[in-house]
Amino acid sequence: MAKRDYYEVLEVSKTASVEEIKKAYRKKALQYHPDKNPGDKIAEEKFKEAAEAYEVLSNANKRQQYDRFGHAGVGGAAGGDFGGMSMDDIFAQFGDIFGGHFGGAFRGFSGFSGFGGNGRQPVNHGSDLRIKVSLSLNEIATGIVKKVKVNKLNMCSHCGGSGAKDSHSSKTCHTCNGSGVVTQVQRTILGQMQTQNVCPTCGGSGHIITDKCTVCNGEGVMRGEEMITINIPAGVQEGMQLSMRGKGNAARRGGIPGDLYVVIEEEPHKELIRDGNDLIYNLLLDLPTAVLGGTIEIPTVDSRVKVKIDRGTQPGKVLRLRGKGLPDVNRYGTGDLLVNIGVYIPETLSTEERRIFEHFHSSDNFKPNGNATRNFFYRVKQMFD
Ligand SMILES: [Zn+2]
Ligand SMILES: [Zn+2]
Repeated sequence: MAKRDYYEVLEVSKTASVEEIKKAYRKKALQYHPDKNPGDKIAEEKFKEAAEAYEVLSNANKRQQYDRFGHAGVGGAAGGDFGGMSMDDIFAQFGDIFGGHFGGAFRGFSGFSGFGGNGRQPVNHGSDLRIKVSLSLNEIATGIVKKVKVNKLNMCSHCGGSGAKDSHSSKTCHTCNGSGVVTQVQRTILGQMQTQNVCPTCGGSGHIITDKCTVCNGEGVMRGEEMITINIPAGVQEGMQLSMRGKGNAARRGGIPGDLYVVIEEEPHKELIRDGNDLIYNLLLDLPTAVLGGTIEIPTVDSRVKVKIDRGTQPGKVLRLRGKGLPDVNRYGTGDLLVNIGVYIPETLSTEERRIFEHFHSSDNFKPNGNATRNFFYRVKQMFD
């Protein structure tokens, strides 16, 4: 399913301020909240859609990427690894949009499946990571799966991220009786509802560690390398950033892991120049082919193609090979290959060649006529406009 424009989803203008975006999201979140629309799948989708739009537009960095590159800039077009927030993510990240006790209320909505099973609110967030991936034009043209070793904080496998030495080295928190939250009943504009706050005694884990895990020293995380598979869509551009949710640093003691940002670097191609989705090839023709016409071979991103050169081809002429450029990262078609023609004039001549060219001095055919002069004038003018 094609994604809707994030500004459209929140019904704000492209120049909307952070405050306006926040306000618009709050409105949508209330309108489509699962507790107000029980069992309504469409409302749930709208709720998720609004959260996704808010996640991007409320973050200056992600918003800039989105404005430049569309959904692909924030991982939206790639599907699979990127984007896609679960209800848990939404509540964990944006529960505080309503501020104060009302935020807590989000976690306490009843009758909503798939969320809040244990009522626990993770408190620790792992930090985000950023890596660079360098791609050839070839890889960009087709899209590619890259495996990259990332040095990061991973969950301690010894204690499963809990930080406790073993199952006997922690005791249930008495403040919250192991739930990790303390509950209050409050009246809000959505009616009466339970609000839950993180237990101040155990920090939300539900238990207190008596003996720390010796491998991670009770942190629940270990530094190490992880092989991460990155599914890079075709058509990405230099500076584009793909975000992989949850692939950043693990959080201490079982919190929410950070995200991994993959920044695209483009390796220069030795013959082709990229211009958006178009490719440019600067072809320097030999003089006889420009004069007499012929066939010439042009490099494309994955092979070579033969191109017919008309006789009397002027330097500065541009041939457009349709569809031989790069696929658009948002799948709006494919660019063209533009062949920019120049003509090589020999710098030295043999005696015989010199005699032939001297002969042409008197030929009117070799003098640019009015039409040629005008065309040349406008072509060069265009280059400087
Ligand atoms: Zn451990
Ligand atoms: Zn507690």
